[in-house]
Amino acid sequence: MTGNEIRQRYLDYFQKHGHRVVRSSSLIPQDDPTLLFTNAGMVQFKRTFLGEEKRDYLRATTSQKCVRAGGKHNDLENVGYTARHHTFFEMLGNFSFGDYFKEKAVDFAWDLLTNGYGLPADKLWASVYLDDDDAYDLWHKRIGIPESRMIRLGEEENFWAMGDTGPCGPCSEIHLDRGAEHGCGRPDCDVACDCDRFLEIWNLVFMQFNRDASGTMTPLPKPSIDTGLGLERMASIIQDVNTNFETDLIYPIIQRAEALAEKPYGQSESDDVAMKVIADHSRAAAFLIGDGVLPSNEGRGYVLRRIMRRAIRYGRNIGLTKPFLHETARVVFDIMAPAYPDLKAAAAFITNVIENEEVRFSETLDNGLRVLNDTLDEIRATGATQVPGDLIFKLYDTFGFPVDIVRDVVRDEGLTLDTEGFDTCMDRQRRQSRSKITFTGISDAYRQLSAAGEKPEFVGYGTLACEARVV
Ligand code: ATP
Ligand code: MG
Ligand code: MG
Ligand code: MG
Repeated sequence: MTGNEIRQRYLDYFQKHGHRVVRSSSLIPQDDPTLLFTNAGMVQFKRTFLGEEKRDYLRATTSQKCVRAGGKHNDLENVGYTARHHTFFEMLGNFSFGDYFKEKAVDFAWDLLTNGYGLPADKLWASVYLDDDDAYDLWHKRIGIPESRMIRLGEEENFWAMGDTGPCGPCSEIHLDRGAEHGCGRPDCDVACDCDRFLEIWNLVFMQFNRDASGTMTPLPKPSIDTGLGLERMASIIQDVNTNFETDLIYPIIQRAEALAEKPYGQSESDDVAMKVIADHSRAAAFLIGDGVLPSNEGRGYVLRRIMRRAIRYGRNIGLTKPFLHETARVVFDIMAPAYPDLKAAAAFITNVIENEEVRFSETLDNGLRVLNDTLDEIRATGATQVPGDLIFKLYDTFGFPVDIVRDVVRDEGLTLDTEGFDTCMDRQRRQSRSKITFTGISDAYRQLSAAGEKPEFVGYGTLACEARVV
């Protein structure tokens, strides 16, 4: 089954069971300053769960574009190193707005996985939130999963929240045991382990509360259902490949990187990491720009810039010294055209934006890498273990290196980053720029901050606005 067919089968199944097929919303959440990017299927339905908005249907199903590269759910630095994490991915979901609850959600999920997709029932595990005996009994007694493949997990894994505030509730997850060869090999490895053996595929969230800024949880008007199934993870299982990156949704991008670099995938671990990063970030850049984000030094645009610069830096690891990311991004349009025709229509604009960023960053990247590598040689020679904060700041300020790049470069060397020292340098620069600025309104202050080289970290629009006022 192709990735496109897996997506379609999901939507058809839930449509057949009375769900309205709703289009994916934009990666930029509408009217929601609490969230950097759409990070789950429920985001476009947040107000419906809260009872603030009525829809003319009580059941919906979507394939939602998601980005997890900042905020509460951030997988940026996992990408390349696990079999299952992307910055951009598609989340298949079914939703009940006060209609069915736990029992039906469990029935649907089990039926679709085992009968619809033909997954082996004896390899599926279910996790439930600590004291959620209802969910436990549904999986164990109603569905028949033996207790040896059930686990109760705590807040971190099995209580889902979109962000620090908003709809949330206990959840129950389905994992597939992919076999010991996919795992870390530790004797205590189980569903709670972070390795790729017990692959989490589907999260059923029992939406019951709204959490406010003080952490207080109030019950939602009606208990509801929100589920999320990773399309690329399902494809890796159904297509029987080791990682999401080898599925037909992503592999053609890797093949383009192989051709450009004249290096094969699957021969060296570090080359593979680079190709996975490039493939993933090509998708993220294409979709983010397609949804209207442009690279910049603040907010969403800065996250996009970090993603692209990370890919460009990994390109150097496989010898790609000329602009290449706009070439790998081109492959994305063709793969995704059946589900996202609009993306292809914007192809010329998107590849232009990417190529401009590549050209702009290329020269400073090489100079910055030279400075970084020289300093790493010195650090190694003296036996030190930390990359100094003022160097990280110089790389950031002079060469446009987001901190992730420094972290990626040193990640296999057992070195730590002096992020406190870096913050001190940032603060100093911030103070110096501010003292030169007179207050003329928020947007003017922004312009002056940017002109002065200020690159505020995105911590939410509310906070950014306050920061800009303190001049
Ligand atoms: P994990 O524990 O593997 O990081 P998660 O618990 O953070 O996953 P959820 O927030 O429960 O994920 O999201 C619902 C589903 O979306 C997951 O079960 C998975 O199939 C998929 N998913 C989550 N994060 C990613 C990602 N970064 N890349 C690809 N698929 C993902
Ligand atoms: Mg996660
Ligand atoms: Mg998880
Ligand atoms: Mg989960």
